[in-house]
Amino acid sequence: MSQVVDAFMQDVIKRNPGEPEFHQAVREVIESVYPMVEANPAMKAANILGRIVEPERIISFRVPWVDDKGQIQVNRGYRVQFNSALGPYKGGIRFHPDVSQGTLKFLAFEQTFKNALTGLPLGGGKGGADFDPRGKSDAEVMRFCQSFMAELFRYVGQETDSPAGDINVGGREIGYMFGMYKKLANEFSGAITGKGVGWGGSRMRTEATGYGVTYFAEEMFNRKGDSLKGKVCAVSGAGNVGLHVIEMVNKLGGKVIAINDLAGLIIDDEGIDNEKLAVMKDIIFNKRQLLDEYAKRFPKAKFIPNEFADAEKKKLVKGYSPWQHVKVDVAFPCSRQNELVLEDAQALLKNGLKALVEGANMPCTPDAIKAVHAAKVMFSPGKASNAGGVATSGLEMSQNAGHIYWSAEEVNTRLHQIMKEIHGLCVQYGGEEGGVVNYERGANVAGFMQVAKAMLAQGVV
Ligand code: GLU
Repeated sequence: MSQVVDAFMQDVIKRNPGEPEFHQAVREVIESVYPMVEANPAMKAANILGRIVEPERIISFRVPWVDDKGQIQVNRGYRVQFNSALGPYKGGIRFHPDVSQGTLKFLAFEQTFKNALTGLPLGGGKGGADFDPRGKSDAEVMRFCQSFMAELFRYVGQETDSPAGDINVGGREIGYMFGMYKKLANEFSGAITGKGVGWGGSRMRTEATGYGVTYFAEEMFNRKGDSLKGKVCAVSGAGNVGLHVIEMVNKLGGKVIAINDLAGLIIDDEGIDNEKLAVMKDIIFNKRQLLDEYAKRFPKAKFIPNEFADAEKKKLVKGYSPWQHVKVDVAFPCSRQNELVLEDAQALLKNGLKALVEGANMPCTPDAIKAVHAAKVMFSPGKASNAGGVATSGLEMSQNAGHIYWSAEEVNTRLHQIMKEIHGLCVQYGGEEGGVVNYERGANVAGFMQVAKAMLAQGVV
């Protein structure tokens, strides 16, 4: 089997040169689903595999804007509309200097199967620009977002493609992009999600990804007659996902002892309780500062500064993530792709790791995942465990289409139910001998089946 997968991958690599993250994401899915497709003559005849790895459309555009000094800057914007078999394209917008067409293709491909797992009518897409909002003034960010949307608005819409946030695109950026969309399209709708509560946004959207990740982890433990209660955890990435994971872990009786960001790593053996979390949220979300500021407020916690964080790279540097520094039961990588490498997995396993639950998109390298599987430790891929964010975006679209707002309780109940169902699908399709669940295979197969069946029904389009 691995030979046919290798041959298939050679073709994918040839057709998509210089896009290693996309190759990685495709291989991960194809390895899981190839045997099933081989056994299905209709899927083989319809060349579902060949078609499913080809984006339906990629839009790339110039984003010119004027900085505060009056100088004209230019960035490159993209929208990858990967697959619309299940519904309008749906997926976030990422602003990051590393954003390239290849990165967005990997993210849109992952998004397609993640969205399928939610059970909602959502296709897969992703967009972004090689723009870094960090260090820019509000006015600069607004001008950039407006210029970005001045082009993107032609290609999106509530029944066509609905973008949302992702790394470095939060409430502020969504606000500016939605404002411009509304003006140009003359339409107030679910064409963009992650809007503010009170102007179209769903309650709980902000919390949804992190809460969903934690609900999923709780399901993994529940299945084994255990829970997150009393579990010691570490989180990477002090962003919207990571901070809401801490909030829900605290609620469920666990304890987070480490978190990092670009500035460095916080280790607090007593745990980041809700009081400390409130301070962290204020520093990160309101003041737009980093964990070095938090460290000043809590000198009792250990802080390891990231001395390699330079302005150019803006990335987490290996060694400043929690994985090789702490002994934890659960690791939640919530930062970015390929941040948790083999040596990190080995250190975590040596220290008695019980579960590795991805909060970001593809944060673990393939060899790290292999090591965790070999140790028979629970592993959940982001496309399953972080699907709560996009699921709640789907709920936002429903509320917008129905001109109604649901209560936080209602949204949370639906989110919780969706995460339980995704967990159930992973168990159904990923069950192995000895009661072990391969969540990676389960998520890939369950998501793929949904999309493939729809593509088969819709003919060669
Ligand atoms: N960027 C998020 C993700 O990776 C959310 C996408 C959305 O809400 O459309 O799933």
